[in-house]
Amino acid sequence: MVTGDRLWSRKFCVSRRVEVSWEHEVQSLPPVEKPLDILVIAAHPDDAEISIGGTIISCLEKGLRVGVLELTSGEPTPHGSLETRQAETAAASAAMNLTWRGNLDLPNRQLLPSLDARHALAGLLRLLRPQIILTHYWEDAHPDHVAASQLTDAARFWAKLSRSDLAGEPFHPPQIYYYWSIHLRNHPQPAFVFDVSRQFEQKMKAVRCYKSQLLTGRSTQFPTVLDDIRDRARYWGWSIGTSYGEPFASRETIGIGEFAGLKVK
Ligand SMILES: [Zn+2]
Repeated sequence: MVTGDRLWSRKFCVSRRVEVSWEHEVQSLPPVEKPLDILVIAAHPDDAEISIGGTIISCLEKGLRVGVLELTSGEPTPHGSLETRQAETAAASAAMNLTWRGNLDLPNRQLLPSLDARHALAGLLRLLRPQIILTHYWEDAHPDHVAASQLTDAARFWAKLSRSDLAGEPFHPPQIYYYWSIHLRNHPQPAFVFDVSRQFEQKMKAVRCYKSQLLTGRSTQFPTVLDDIRDRARYWGWSIGTSYGEPFASRETIGIGEFAGLKVK
């Protein structure tokens, strides 16, 4: 993760309305120097790596500025602590060479797409100004994931509104796509699958940083959680004729200007 970037805005106040209650958390977010190309919004630390770590690494390799925003600390969990989770998250960020990472510190297990949360996230979107948002699919077994998806949709819309009480210049992130997490064992129909064949082992290196969530106290019998992650990625890779892939959904039809971008191999 890049550190030492300077915030381009003089005052990191995402919303006049929630300035007091959010001041500490928002001002503790790391500064960023210039807008991000891609912002991954996740309910918990480890969601981003497990779901789309390969896509993140691939985009970073292409020189894009990719950030991850967690909405909650992810704690409590059976084998974690705040300190442990922060250390694991920092290690995973370094393993991916991530551009930026922040945490909005909303309540874990009680995440709601509330107006205050929408204000905070919309204000942050005006600062980070990503061209693409990647967030949880709208259907999930984990209520925090569903809330994160709804909150992101609402905040993206609010961020563009003029004559609002949000700080910063109105901005509408042009694209938003949704990734699947590991809790809901359904059979999704993705809009596209991102080829992560070359990035997959590096993704797993980042995923394994989350020992308290994926290794400690877990069964070592096949199939482990790590086996599940690999097998799902292999399935999606198979579906597009490559080794590994990560699927995404889109609410809207995806337009293209040339066929070249559709070529995987
Ligand atoms: Zn999660």
